[in-house]
Amino acid sequence: MTKENMNAKKIVLAVGAHPDDIDIGSSGSVAKWIKEGGQVYYLVLTDGSKGSEDRHISHQDLTKLRHAEQQKAADILGVKKVFFLDFVDGELENNHELRKEIVRIIRQVKPTTVICFDPTFVYDDNRQFINHPDHRVAGQATLDAVFPFARNVRTYPDLLEQGLEPHVVEEVLLVNFSKNNFFVDISQTLDLKMKVIACHTSQFIDMKKFLERIRFFNHEAGKKVKPKAEYAESYFKITLRRPS
Ligand SMILES: [Zn+2]
Repeated sequence: MTKENMNAKKIVLAVGAHPDDIDIGSSGSVAKWIKEGGQVYYLVLTDGSKGSEDRHISHQDLTKLRHAEQQKAADILGVKKVFFLDFVDGELENNHELRKEIVRIIRQVKPTTVICFDPTFVYDDNRQFINHPDHRVAGQATLDAVFPFARNVRTYPDLLEQGLEPHVVEEVLLVNFSKNNFFVDISQTLDLKMKVIACHTSQFIDMKKFLERIRFFNHEAGKKVKPKAEYAESYFKITLRRPS
């Protein structure tokens, strides 16, 4: 089977903590897989209600705005559906409630591939930033949902009653800018990625500068691809064993 054929069978569930997370880390890959016939779903865990320095916009208005920005970006890419769970931004906890909601969507969508943050990614000196606590919680809760809960028949019997059968995910792509073993060549979709990130107008005071930074990091990642790619997104890939 050629790589394109394989990607045509790909069903991807990309999980982010906030509207814009998935687009910043993975929209180049998402665009490429959709062009190759794959299906992609987004799951956004929080309402994004802390994502502004504007003291006057209400919690509800900001959430509404960020939903709209995320939906617009997803529509450009051709994402099948965006699930918004609307947990409160900045207060995400890896608990039963969150894990169960992620399991529900994994069992609904039946992804071959799950993308999420690497929960062990705490900071990056090179990029001069500390990874947001919601990102780490989102990563841990998603990994926990993938294994063991989504595939375990005895977990969440009420989901089973609703017809949501256990599901085995084939691979997880962790977003960790410092540690990677897998690259997606996004040279053909970089322009689309820039367009998609630009939908999140509420998030960046200087959008042009931010896009330049992303372009730079994707170019740096491209140097690690063999043969070299102009631009790439990087992941740490875990291939999961099927139950024996
Ligand atoms: Zn975020």
